[in-house]
Amino acid sequence: MADYVISPPAISSIPVAGGGSFPVRRVFCVGRNYAEHAREMGSDPDREPPFFFMKPADALLLNDADMPYPPQSTQLHHEMEMVVAIGVGGANIAAADALSHVWGYAAGLDMTRRDLQNAAKKEGKPWDMGKGFDWSAPIGLLVPASKIGHPSKGLIELKVNGKVRQTSDLSKMIWDVPEMIAYLSGLVTLAPGDLIYSGTPENVAAVERGDLLEGTVEGVGSVTTRIV
Ligand code: MN
Repeated sequence: MADYVISPPAISSIPVAGGGSFPVRRVFCVGRNYAEHAREMGSDPDREPPFFFMKPADALLLNDADMPYPPQSTQLHHEMEMVVAIGVGGANIAAADALSHVWGYAAGLDMTRRDLQNAAKKEGKPWDMGKGFDWSAPIGLLVPASKIGHPSKGLIELKVNGKVRQTSDLSKMIWDVPEMIAYLSGLVTLAPGDLIYSGTPENVAAVERGDLLEGTVEGVGSVTTRIV
């Protein structure tokens, strides 16, 4: 046993539908991966290669848990996304081989302190504090690709207090799952336990304390949280 001078941190993990637990190493997120969302954020979706940012693994919030409204923000936005879980690592993975590296999928929310993100963008500063704060990554049960396959189309939807806020189709991703894995694994060596939040469709908006968020990804599952 290592001679740790403090207690080592717990390993973040997410429950798997049907039993078991998936240990999480890193959480990557793809920015502006649906054209209509890229446009609403003021950029040109046709010219940008995919780009990535990260959240700490302990920012994950398990399904049905309450999400505390974060400090230092008055503009907490929802971003409904499909999450890809990497089971087999690698560098420079070819798009044609990429799906063999995927263990499973989940529905997730990339919660964003939009006011802090916008201020950082304006000043050319990092997004981390707008994106990677405590409990900023609610996530549903993970489902194995061995059971559901690799969804490339299907409804992605978020309801807030029972009303539809975001609705789109997985087929509208600018960079699909194999392409995002190919790009990302050219930047870093992917490892088992890595998650990739695959981007949100349009109509991101603010939530308030008390709001109930219920997201679904067709063929994958759901994610639910209440803002408190
Ligand atoms: Mn996002």
